[in-house]
Amino acid sequence: MKRRKFLKNSGLTTAGFLSTSILASCKTENKIEPESATLPPIRPVAVCTWNFLNATAKAWEVLDAGGSALDAVEQGVRVEEADVTNETVGKGGRPDRDGNVTLDACIMDKDGNCGSVVYLQNIAHPVSVARKVMEETPHIILAGKGAEQFAYEQGFKKEDLFTESTRKQYEEWKKTSKYETTINIENHDTIGMLAIDKNGDIAGACTTSGMAYKVAGRVGDSPIIGAGLFVDNEVGGATATGVGEEVIRTVGSFLIVELMRQGMSPQEACEEGVKRIMKKNEGREDFQIGFLAINKQGETGGYCVHPGFTYREYSESGHENNTVKSFYS
Ligand code: ASP
Repeated sequence: MKRRKFLKNSGLTTAGFLSTSILASCKTENKIEPESATLPPIRPVAVCTWNFLNATAKAWEVLDAGGSALDAVEQGVRVEEADVTNETVGKGGRPDRDGNVTLDACIMDKDGNCGSVVYLQNIAHPVSVARKVMEETPHIILAGKGAEQFAYEQGFKKEDLFTESTRKQYEEWKKTSKYETTINIENHDTIGMLAIDKNGDIAGACTTSGMAYKVAGRVGDSPIIGAGLFVDNEVGGATATGVGEEVIRTVGSFLIVELMRQGMSPQEACEEGVKRIMKKNEGREDFQIGFLAINKQGETGGYCVHPGFTYREYSESGHENNTVKSFYS
């Protein structure tokens, strides 16, 4: 029986499954085998939305050195937060329509602990502030001025998040003030990352400057646990990119992890996630969403509304940029 069907039928935890399979194997072989002979192999791997090669390479470096999945995803997405040529994440992200650069991020570990910051200004690494929220406070989400104040208290330094390029583009944009969610054009490309470490534990992180020229105060799916990111160490993890409002309406990442719990592969779950969204948006073609998922065995999958979404995968067998199938061709 396939493992995922087994989980569905029995409702057993991974630990339960493993000990059951060890017992079964011992019985049939009629001898005690070392545990390693019966455990499914752990496949350390890092994946992220879009083709963020440097970020996944960094995450892989952490995993390969024996680091935790949590450190890998934080270190990985920080690469994009620091890259000022990437105008959708961290420093150099595009502003809202009033000229505020506001960042959103979250992080989640193997034990279901999570932290998030929304509408954070003047701090270049929101994912690390989110991790501090998770580890240093009894809370999960900090917003706006409070999040910024907390970041300073934790030693983060104040930075101007505008670059010459984003300031120029903003001045240009103000001439027409036209807001468009252009499909696959870089006005909204979040990095969501998932990783499995050498212990087989899963963690995830997601960080973005949100949609360019959004209404001031708007927060998307990316920092919302369950929407832009969700991890369940018994099952797998999922993350999203694209028009956050639609992802929130289906609690997309949580939905995908639950679909995997019920027996779907990461690929099947991502497809079902997009189909649920399209059901609520019949005939609408003017937005993009991409989902990415990984299960406990390290299998990955992705699906999107329109062609163009890819995800980068990095493991000991190398790395590749995977083009995913889409709802519309
Ligand atoms: N999901 C992000 C948001 O809605 C944007 C993106 O992924 O492109 O803010």
